[in-house]
Amino acid sequence: MRATVMFGAGDVRIEDVPDARLVEPTDALVIVTRAAICGSDLWPYKSMEPSETGRRMGHEFIGVVEAVGSDVRTVKAGDLVVAPFLWSDGTCVFCREGLHTSCLHGGRYGGDGVDGGQGEAVRVPQADGTLVVLPVGKDDALMPSLLTLSDVMGTGHHAALAAEVGPGKTVAVVGDGAVGLCGVIAVRRLGADQIILLGRHPDRIALAREFGATDVVSERGEVAVERVRELTNGFGAHSVLECVGLGQATVTALSIVRPGGAVGRVGIPQEESIPNAVQTFFDNVTIGGGPAPVRAYIEELLADVLEGTIEPGRVFDRVARLDEVPEGYRAMNEREAIKVMVEL
Ligand SMILES: [Zn+2]
Repeated sequence: MRATVMFGAGDVRIEDVPDARLVEPTDALVIVTRAAICGSDLWPYKSMEPSETGRRMGHEFIGVVEAVGSDVRTVKAGDLVVAPFLWSDGTCVFCREGLHTSCLHGGRYGGDGVDGGQGEAVRVPQADGTLVVLPVGKDDALMPSLLTLSDVMGTGHHAALAAEVGPGKTVAVVGDGAVGLCGVIAVRRLGADQIILLGRHPDRIALAREFGATDVVSERGEVAVERVRELTNGFGAHSVLECVGLGQATVTALSIVRPGGAVGRVGIPQEESIPNAVQTFFDNVTIGGGPAPVRAYIEELLADVLEGTIEPGRVFDRVARLDEVPEGYRAMNEREAIKVMVEL
């Protein structure tokens, strides 16, 4: 079968790889119908050391179940399923607490004999705990929004929960990538009044306003902090979603939260230490977040997608075939595309 393999920074190819197949009795074999390129795929795209064997890519996908192992009960051949970006058993102590990212028997796609999502098929371990059946056809018009349930919409929602977003609160979202934009949707959905987006790209800002952002701050650094203070009676935001992970964005996020407020971090930190440790201590700021246990959120968000009350699929502004995936990486890396959906 064909799949996406990264061989080094800027070097993504579509290669022939061994066919995906069932190995464990808890596996499902899924024929991929839609996949996505993630902002986190751009980190290795910028920095990966050259590799002879390469690395299989992709962790966001929807597909049709082709076959299941003998222990699988909740999905069957022919089901259309969405996969969260990590697989998990759904039964261990952490999964039962809703923290599927810490599953004792879980893991990630693209390594250790598990296929990546940007390919023709995937062996999904722990299928019962991982996959969620979608009650629509494989070419339904909702497909882009359903695909965001595998990562970015759930990640935006996780940031909002970690930032303690709620009715009447003032919220700042740092970052106008797909996760930041989905963060705006999540914040609006949870009833916040004022939603300040910190971002610089006109097309993304326009989409954020349609998703519910009430104010936009396009400056950076100290000036951005000043602008947010002006918009919040001088206090800062109750809730801040950090959706970037770079040093500057993290400093900004921790500088615009008001005393007693909370910062929800979902951007992968690129620094070892958390800035503003002393000020945020004396301000009693809660710093939360991490990789989103999106499996815990799929059913709840799926209901809103099916009802049409949220449209996170609008973050996809480009569609590619599998052999166009390398060009999709380039376009996202150069900020020509917000997010690329792959149709197989
Ligand atoms: Zn588990």
